[in-house]
Amino acid sequence: MAVATPTTLDGRTLSRSVLDECRSRGELLTERFGVIPHLAVVLVGDDSASAVYVRAKERACRRAGIRSTVVRLPATSSTEAVSDAVTSLAADEGVHGIIVQLPLPTGIDPATTLAHIPADKDADGFHRHNVGSLFLGQSVYPPCTPEGVMRLLDNADIELEGANVVIVGASNIVGKPMAVMALRREATVTVCHARTRDLSAHTRQADIVICAAGHVGLITGDMVKHGAVVIDVGINRLPDGRVTGDVDYDSVAAKASHISPVPGGVGPMTVAVLIANTVRAAERSVGLPSPRPDAEGTEFSTVSSAQGS
Ligand code: NAD
Repeated sequence: MAVATPTTLDGRTLSRSVLDECRSRGELLTERFGVIPHLAVVLVGDDSASAVYVRAKERACRRAGIRSTVVRLPATSSTEAVSDAVTSLAADEGVHGIIVQLPLPTGIDPATTLAHIPADKDADGFHRHNVGSLFLGQSVYPPCTPEGVMRLLDNADIELEGANVVIVGASNIVGKPMAVMALRREATVTVCHARTRDLSAHTRQADIVICAAGHVGLITGDMVKHGAVVIDVGINRLPDGRVTGDVDYDSVAAKASHISPVPGGVGPMTVAVLIANTVRAAERSVGLPSPRPDAEGTEFSTVSSAQGS
């Protein structure tokens, strides 16, 4: 069975609607409380890819009508200096979301600096409290990339319940939280990684493949079944400067029912969720109840709330 043309999971268009919704929520906050949501980004060194990502975040803030500040530090900064910058942003009541742009230059310990971001300003959703909340189905600040993937799937009405979801990549920021989110939606989840013995034996069984390995051309058409949904999280820079994902687009698109492109798929959604998390933090700072991203119950959440956890 050939699937003629797959549906493109267009993160660019969807991210604009997320940012427009953020703008409305921000305007309401400003009207009622005089608060403008504010994202602070700590950028250390002069890595060109990081500079590109930070500019994309600033653009998204402008689109959503929220404030952004970039604190620039030299690559020679110590871990303490970066941590101090984060600590002073944490103490600033006018700042609602803080991120440290990764990767940090060699010699600066990311875990130490990230630990200075308080859980209620953790726009990236990396804080251990927020990671634990996600695990328990009580997430307030979901990690941006997996939440962006969920929004792409939901927007296309792709059902996760009962689906075989194969995630390639098991990092703390993408693969693992992605697995928790898919499990929470009652998918049957397999997580593969660099030591997985026969990757294609897993991916061929998948209704939904989500690849976040950072390996050009890792997923090819022969590794997916007809009609599969394929989400490409990978961002790889080719020698000629172009950006590509982990999925061999043409061969996979010939079989998939839905596919996310790179660029223009998960990337813009990641940024949009970052802004949404910042707006949520601003809402919570004035005591406004904001809907939790995982507020809709599933069997898992019913069990956990019945146990009072
Ligand atoms: P990471 O290096 O922390 O983790 C990579 C994971 O992939 C590991 O679990 C590793 O075991 C697995 N892996 C590597 N090679 C593999 C192979 N050949 N077969 C199977 N598994 C393999 O990376 P990360 O931070 O999770 O990022 C992964 C990719 O996603 C990168 O390309 C990164 O740039 C991209 N990324 C994109 C976004 C976005 O917004 N689109 C956000 C974060 C990361």
